[in-house]
Amino acid sequence: MRLTFWGAAREVTGSMHLIETNGTRLLLDCGSKQGHRREANERNANFPFDAASIDAVLISHAHIDHCGNLPTLTKHGFTRDVIGTHATNDLVRIMLFDSAKIQEQDAAYLNKKRAGRGEEPIVPIYTRADVEVAVRALTGRSYNFWFELPHANIRAQFLDAGHILGSAITQLDIVESERTIRFGYTGDLGVKNKLILRDPQPAPPLDYLIIEGTYGDRLHSSRADSEKELARIIGETAAQGGKTIIPAFALDRTQEIVYSLHRSILSGALNPLPVFVDSPLAMDATEIYRMHPDIFDQETLAFMEKNEDPFGFRQLTYTRDVEASKAINDLYGPAVIIASNGMVEAGRVLHHVKNNIGDRKNTILFVGYQAENTLGRRILDGAKRVRILGDEYSVRARIARVDGLSGHADRNGLLEWVRPIADELKGVFVVHAEEQAAEALVEGLRGLGIRNAIAPRYGEQFNLN
Ligand SMILES: [Zn+2]
Repeated sequence: MRLTFWGAAREVTGSMHLIETNGTRLLLDCGSKQGHRREANERNANFPFDAASIDAVLISHAHIDHCGNLPTLTKHGFTRDVIGTHATNDLVRIMLFDSAKIQEQDAAYLNKKRAGRGEEPIVPIYTRADVEVAVRALTGRSYNFWFELPHANIRAQFLDAGHILGSAITQLDIVESERTIRFGYTGDLGVKNKLILRDPQPAPPLDYLIIEGTYGDRLHSSRADSEKELARIIGETAAQGGKTIIPAFALDRTQEIVYSLHRSILSGALNPLPVFVDSPLAMDATEIYRMHPDIFDQETLAFMEKNEDPFGFRQLTYTRDVEASKAINDLYGPAVIIASNGMVEAGRVLHHVKNNIGDRKNTILFVGYQAENTLGRRILDGAKRVRILGDEYSVRARIARVDGLSGHADRNGLLEWVRPIADELKGVFVVHAEEQAAEALVEGLRGLGIRNAIAPRYGEQFNLN
């Protein structure tokens, strides 16, 4: 078989890996590349292979850097199945429509300016009409259930990756000249003891593995401490009459924080106060979480058996329409406002940060990774003045961070997951990691005795047997 890395190679976005065997071409993930606009557009608009020649796509989970470019693939002639877990497929639908909507809005905004300068209009990479077509290909499978792929020389199964709802580790048995190659792809690997989700399933016996390495060079604080920290910071801010603004991604992080606050209020760690989730996408994602309790962990199921709702409580309000969102600004007194996006680059969170960052009583609380060149990163790095939606604001609010709520395994989590199968692995490929994290994880894997551990480059090919 031949393996080619067409994305997330020494970077963290655009996951896409091609497997070719006995005339079958299989794609693992079809994600969007994010980052510098021109480069990302160039990569996302063109495939380095013939889209029509792909026999099936297996999607590891619904984050846009893993599924976001599916509509382009169908636009370019792909007509076969896109296979994910049932929950993944439900989430992929809302994520793709949201992505198309943002692209259409961005294009409309830019085209107004371009028209003024007499420039050609730009077109979105894909629109909602393209998504309508792409989502028809989604085919659902359950965890721990083997299924055959089109050419019958490959069978596959999904294991729970514990990263977001529906996330999967993909296990493949590829038969070549009567020999079976056991192949695995972690997708994004989750963490143990994460709220709502089950722990990642152990690694099955494998010959080759593609592993993510987002935090290949770092360790997280403990989750239990992080939950306490979250309640403590909100409590301190409320005690002085302030609001806590939490920029959070709509998918998973928001559901987890809502559940965590509910637990803290019930346990008395946090005094009840108004909490707002101001994100239509987060509301849609929460509805899909509610549809899949069959894949929640035991603790969450026990919580629900006591007639408690992990995603709702008396003081919690979800706001969908713009008027309700604006009304939050007029609210007097302590409150928590959770809004996306998580890196304060776009969306409703911009308005809440703008309205609250100038007041000492308030807190901007970061709970996720802040990439370079984002507003979230500048605030976190201690900028005294920031530009938001065209105006300058002084940073007087408290800036805080809780770092143990990540959805990704840290260095120890990754290495511990691989350790039980290290002796039988013939090769491991580290993807979904920036240069430094990738190199550090490669070194860690070699420390487990895996000599053929490498971080492939974009377009690099490997013949495996
Ligand atoms: Zn992910």
